[in-house]
Amino acid sequence: MSKLIVQKYGGTSVGSVERIQEVANRVIRYRNRGDSVVVVLSAMSGETNKLVELINAINPKGSAREKDVILSTGEQVTIGLLSLALEAKGCPARSYTGTQARVMTDNAHCKARISKIEGDKLTKDLDAGRVVVVAGFQGVDNEGNITTLGRGGSDTTAVALAVALKADECQIYTDVDGVYTTDPRMVPEATHIPKLALEEMLEMASQGSKVLQIRAVEFAYKYNMPIRVLSSFDDNDDGKSTLVTREEDIMEEVLVRGVAFNKDEAQLTITGVPDQPGVAYKILGPISDANIEVDMIVQNIGIDGATDFTFTIHRNDYDEAKKILCETGEKLGAKNCDGDDKIAKISIIGGGMRSHAGVASLMFESLANEGINIRMISTSEIKVSVVIDEKYLELAVRSLHDVFDLGDCS
Ligand code: ADP
Ligand code: ASP
Ligand code: MG
Repeated sequence: MSKLIVQKYGGTSVGSVERIQEVANRVIRYRNRGDSVVVVLSAMSGETNKLVELINAINPKGSAREKDVILSTGEQVTIGLLSLALEAKGCPARSYTGTQARVMTDNAHCKARISKIEGDKLTKDLDAGRVVVVAGFQGVDNEGNITTLGRGGSDTTAVALAVALKADECQIYTDVDGVYTTDPRMVPEATHIPKLALEEMLEMASQGSKVLQIRAVEFAYKYNMPIRVLSSFDDNDDGKSTLVTREEDIMEEVLVRGVAFNKDEAQLTITGVPDQPGVAYKILGPISDANIEVDMIVQNIGIDGATDFTFTIHRNDYDEAKKILCETGEKLGAKNCDGDDKIAKISIIGGGMRSHAGVASLMFESLANEGINIRMISTSEIKVSVVIDEKYLELAVRSLHDVFDLGDCS
């Protein structure tokens, strides 16, 4: 039976003329089986970073609206190139920017959220036998302004399109052949995971496994859209992959599914603030007013009427957040205000943790055996995260991967 398939290709998968030709060949193979194909593309690898550098060289504090006008251009190049490649191979295709495809978003420039996709035009093309090629990572707000969805956002475009068009499959092609127990670039012994619960992937993505953008996984979870992660470097269309689905039973099977890490965070600490109602709000309110997202928060128990706060933020926000915090500190008569942008967060994730005690203590023991100091701890039902010095990151990931027996010994 013919299917409607959404295929997303990331930066390295469209990083050269040869790679784009390979994408065209795969799309044609699926079409020849009778499937309808919608392709979502990223910019060529490195291109979005170059655009960020250009923005920073001209006006890093400039308006986010203008930044989105620039950031969205990388994807416009690849969609045009792929459509030309398909056309040259005799396959009718039509490219669409986010605006043209009516990928509607809110107006939060640089981190916009998709509200709906008006897919009628795309459906007409598919019905007419064309391949539809959509620019990932971008949309349009109600006023017609171009928006972007945050780094890695093409994954989210793909899942949202799959939901809107009621696709049979959402395939995410990247440079690895699926999701592993940890980043296989850091730990080559990482094990391939053939099937993974969306809930576990949600935690892995939010704790730093950038193989899928977190919002893409949230979307897939909300609308129950399975995602298949595959390698665009594998010509075998039935080769290795990971199916990420909402099947509860997969999750219960495994105690620790994987180790995720994040090197993009920084830590801020304020000590000796009055221990009274409203103090957390006074400290974190100005940070949130500056649109800075806070991740982990720890407040110490008060001693002699004073308490300490530590929290983490994205490393890009470190200087601004530290300035705001220290100003607040002066107003509150704090003892000290300091920070560190050389930290890393490591998390172990697994559905089986729900019903098993002792996972966290094994994690702490393993880090202690390596002489690694834990600065902060946070837990959820299926995750334990710790903040440590960045310099111990690799050692910590390897030792946790080992202690929870995640390595591939085949
Ligand atoms: P794309 O450009 O295709 O979107 P990304 O670089 O965003 O690709 O994501 C793929 C990368 O994610 C891999 O190259 C790998 O280094 C990294 N990664 C991090 N954690 C994992 C994991 N648990 N499993 C697989 N890949 C992971
Ligand atoms: N090109 C954008 C980025 O580099 C979006 C994406 O690749 O998903 O973040
Ligand atoms: Mg990506």
